[in-house]
Amino acid sequence: MNESLNEYPHRHPDDHPHEHQILNPATEEVIATVPAATPGDVAAAVARATEAQRGWAALAPADRARLLRRFAAVVDGRIEELAALEVREAGHPIGNARWEAGNVRDLLDYAAGGAERLSGAQIPVAGGLNVTFHEPLGVVAVIAPWNFPMPIAAWGTAPALAAGNAVVLKPAETTPLTALRLAELALEAGLPEGLLQVLPGAGPVAGAALVEHPGVAKVVFTGSTAVGKQIMATCAAGVKRVTLELGGKSPNIVFADADIERAAASAPGSFLDNTGQDCCARSRILVQASVYDRFMELLAPAVTSFAVGDPADPATAMGPLISAAQRERVRSYVPEDAPAAIRGDAPQGKGFWYPATVLEATGPGDRAAVEEIFGPVAVVLPFEDEADAVRLANATDYGLSGSIWTRDVGRAVRVSRAVAAGNLSVNSHSSVRYATPFGGYKQSGLGRELGPDALAAFTETKNVFISTEEQ
Ligand code: ADP
Repeated sequence: MNESLNEYPHRHPDDHPHEHQILNPATEEVIATVPAATPGDVAAAVARATEAQRGWAALAPADRARLLRRFAAVVDGRIEELAALEVREAGHPIGNARWEAGNVRDLLDYAAGGAERLSGAQIPVAGGLNVTFHEPLGVVAVIAPWNFPMPIAAWGTAPALAAGNAVVLKPAETTPLTALRLAELALEAGLPEGLLQVLPGAGPVAGAALVEHPGVAKVVFTGSTAVGKQIMATCAAGVKRVTLELGGKSPNIVFADADIERAAASAPGSFLDNTGQDCCARSRILVQASVYDRFMELLAPAVTSFAVGDPADPATAMGPLISAAQRERVRSYVPEDAPAAIRGDAPQGKGFWYPATVLEATGPGDRAAVEEIFGPVAVVLPFEDEADAVRLANATDYGLSGSIWTRDVGRAVRVSRAVAAGNLSVNSHSSVRYATPFGGYKQSGLGRELGPDALAAFTETKNVFISTEEQ
């Protein structure tokens, strides 16, 4: 996520509103008013979570699994309702929003399977029996961003619960509604009171209080690199566990030997999906110089035909940005007189709309080519050869994802290994699947979420040696 125009730059609770108005970003209408949690609310929630976690961890693993599957089934029955809420509060196109709600269901199902498979090891040693246990951490704080409010809340929550922890979830200021609804659905499914609590509130107040609370054993944070660093520093004081999913400036590398038509046709989705508010957005398009002109010729119609408009319309591929502040930030990268190579349309009038924009970089140091924009803006840069492509791809403090387009399988493997990023895809733009690990190299993050090892990040390993000496 971006180094934000932080709407709440001060720490003191009195400086923050006691409630947040939630806007529909496509219309600017107020759709809800949500109270903002105070540090006192945070302390009370952590106390309730501590209590609930004891009972939860004492349940048989099969019973925890059964309850989580029931939670998944309840979510499955509410996909349309949750998706509609995401359309209203985040401006996501309805097709995307349905996928997001389905992703929550799938994560819960997948994590539930892990509850009964948290097997330790028996390790051969002399003089006794040595076994390991994977024990829950206790209370986990999940601090979620506004770009994918539902799935990212679930990435931390589902495996944490499956591993026997309680969760206090703080959604982003602008997008608390789906998280609040998910907590209600958890109760409907039979999860114990207090096990999953959602506390909307300001990051520097409710978020900071959660991170600092001594009763919180681990913080899972997804957001800007600047806030992530601050959270990691706070966690250091208590040697708290931390998982960070931060920013990105991911490359889309197109070699001359690729299927240029397919590479160009799929490029818009890779930086326009979610209106570019995606830490995996392929917002640096690196194109081999010999096919640069041809690629740009093909890219232009693909970008301008990307359907922008009412998120509730199933034909829409791109909705508005999340807020006025975010639109100002995106605009700051594209001065009025910037010679955009390609520019799409956007609705006029109410709503935080911004057109799809492709810039030709003036050089690799160009601000738009270096910083995460978090909007529907990509920068194109030419490269000469494979070494040059790898050098440019790695010329960033980030390392989250990237795509490689080539028909040469050896090159695909070489470049995949050479690019310092956690999630790469060849001849595609896939990044996130609940069954595969996700996370960043360098300043894109710390730790991994999702995939077969997701539960391990929510446990401590305990080693026990039992002497077999005669007593
Ligand atoms: P963005 O700039 O895109 O809004 P942030 O990193 O500011 O991203 O926000 C991501 C999440 O982190 C949100 O839930 C926000 O409320 C929370 N947050 C922001 N500042 C802090 C902080 N100092 N401590 C804890 N959480 C924070």
